[in-house]
Amino acid sequence: MEIIYTDVLVIGGGLAGQRAAIGARRRGLDVTILSLVPAKRSHSAAAQGGMQASLGNCLGGSGDNEDLHFADTVRGSDWGADQEVVRMFTHTAPKAIREMAAWGVPWSRVRQGPHSITEDGEQKTITEPAAAHGLIDSRNFGGTAKWRACYVADGTGHAMLYAMSNQAIAAGIPVHERLEAIALICDGERCCGAVVRNLMTGALSAYMARATCIATGGFGRIYRVSTNAVINEGMGAAIALETGIARLGNMEAVQFHPTGIFPAGILVTEGCRGDGGLLLDGAEHRFMPGYEPEKRELASRDVVSRRMEEHIAAGHGATTRFGDHLWLDIRLLGAEHIDGKLREVKEICQYFLGIDPSRELIPVRPAQHYSMGGIRTDHNCHSRELRGLFAVGEAACWDMHGFNRLGGNSVAETVVAGMIAGESIADFCASADGSIQLATNLANDALSAQAAQLTAIADSTGNESAVELTKLMQETMTDKVGIFRRGESLQQAVQTLLELQRRSAGVRLRSSASGANPELVAAYRLPRMLKLALCVTHGALMRCESRGAHYREDYPQRDDAQWLRRTLASWPDADDTLPTLDYEALDIHRMELPPGWRGYGTKDSIDHPSTAIRETEIAQLIANYPEADRYQRQNLLMPFHHLLPPGFRGRNQRLEDTE
Ligand SMILES: Cc1cc2nc3c(=O)[nH]c(=O)nc-3n(C[C@H](O)[C@H](O)[C@H](O)COP(=O)(O)OP(=O)(O)OC[C@H]3O[C@@H](n4cnc5c(N)ncnc54)[C@H](O)[C@@H]3O)c2cc1C
Repeated sequence: MEIIYTDVLVIGGGLAGQRAAIGARRRGLDVTILSLVPAKRSHSAAAQGGMQASLGNCLGGSGDNEDLHFADTVRGSDWGADQEVVRMFTHTAPKAIREMAAWGVPWSRVRQGPHSITEDGEQKTITEPAAAHGLIDSRNFGGTAKWRACYVADGTGHAMLYAMSNQAIAAGIPVHERLEAIALICDGERCCGAVVRNLMTGALSAYMARATCIATGGFGRIYRVSTNAVINEGMGAAIALETGIARLGNMEAVQFHPTGIFPAGILVTEGCRGDGGLLLDGAEHRFMPGYEPEKRELASRDVVSRRMEEHIAAGHGATTRFGDHLWLDIRLLGAEHIDGKLREVKEICQYFLGIDPSRELIPVRPAQHYSMGGIRTDHNCHSRELRGLFAVGEAACWDMHGFNRLGGNSVAETVVAGMIAGESIADFCASADGSIQLATNLANDALSAQAAQLTAIADSTGNESAVELTKLMQETMTDKVGIFRRGESLQQAVQTLLELQRRSAGVRLRSSASGANPELVAAYRLPRMLKLALCVTHGALMRCESRGAHYREDYPQRDDAQWLRRTLASWPDADDTLPTLDYEALDIHRMELPPGWRGYGTKDSIDHPSTAIRETEIAQLIANYPEADRYQRQNLLMPFHHLLPPGFRGRNQRLEDTE
């Protein structure tokens, strides 16, 4: 069993992992990336609609800035986000998008002159000014005040990942692919690398590192109906949990995207609605304005998904032998628009449904899409509990999404958090903490423990099938831990998951091959996926309120008095059957935007006693400095620049800057 030494081990070759790796490499560190698949096939490539950054170039984005992006993101999160992190993010996103442009992403560009657009079901003409010609364009997305999602037709993630990967190659960063990190190596206080299994040969090796960064993406595949790829099983979060030290934040916050194609769950982008597409019911009636007069189809995803399910439950769906669904209508956008800006959507419809969306309706129903929860980190993307462990991207809970992520804010987070993590990893390695004696016996012990676990699975004489148990877990999560949750069904889900956990100890393999053996892979991932499923379900059961994507029918109000808190899940003892849950309070007195109504969705929440006090403090601060510009005002309310690496602190420039 080989031991490999590197300064920085990045587990995950998607947008987040590669950007963090590039940052650390540029600071002179030796960096190695691990990936289950070739890096360019990471799930980031599936991102379709766009990346949010407040450039304000196009007419629909006119007047946009960091303040508006900040407010949209905090409202979108249903006040679950860390507002300092949201500020760090919205401030850095314009820099990230321009960096990606410099690296070769062919962002769609503004073209001066008249254009036909579709808004609220009607065709309109807008005229883009000559000054904006050639600048990066944006499209409309849900829950935003401005058109802010920069895009490359509907292949945004693909274009970004290829450009990012090419930069990583140019920087000489090796990607060791078809390798899986199956455990972290820790000395009880500090992370020192990972035990890694070669998915082709089955060989185990230890990667020892001064800093380890998990960037393994989401865990959507604990659900049956998901827009996520089959590799999104959450192993990064699971192996962090299994250290017994690192904690996972807000695991119950799981996003369901309104437009998974029915019944497969493959995504068609929010850009379809952003560009003017409509949701219709079984009678081909447009129903969203009746529920959400302000934002209609473009309320945040949690709200639209709930409205869709309510409408189906009220008997307004289209009925098929697979169940009920609604329709997405993009016919009104016209074939030219679809061929140019929504061509992946067109191909998905052709290949998977056999329809042409410029002439036919697309059957849709909400599907699991995104994990807001993940490895809890501080502002520097560093685990708060386990030194030397960093996390970025969808695998992390940094926490800028709170209980609901806005469309386009994820790929933006991957790049921004990657930029910040690259710097903080390098700072950590340069600090006294960053130089360690990497002990060979620590690596050998970790290798032996994993080898013993794999042998135990191979030798098991039980009669359970890992594939069948995985399916049962996915069914349970989709049926009982979905968009609408109730205490009773969550309790039943916990019991089912505990039973599956017990049965998973009796998994038997039909093939004893130690190399490329999908059954073996399913067998060792299953208990880890079950742990994540239990973190989601137990966390959801305990959170007796509704916030963002976590909706409890038995507790329908957002309860800021009791629940303005982040859930932290840990697994301190390997023999535990349930995660230990702790809570971290969000401090209203440090919020720039105290809790209120989101501007869409229900207007029904229980106030925190400090909300009114903070509102008065803010009003007073603003009144005391009547001459302050928007930057000075922001700095008075919630300073954040000191949290950013110095290179990212400068102001962003826009066409229309007046202050
Ligand atoms: C269909 C779809 C469309 C989307 N569209 C958009 C969009 O338009 N805009 C937007 O903002 N967001 C979008 N999202 C969300 C966004 O794409 C993802 O959240 C984001 O790309 C995740 O990036 P990441 O780098 O964190 O992880 P990923 O890109 O998922 O990469 C994970 C990496 O980890 C590796 N890995 C995993 N486990 C292990 C292990 N145990 N050992 C070694 N390697 C491992 C994988 O091989 C992979 O390289 C979309 C998501 C989906 C599913």
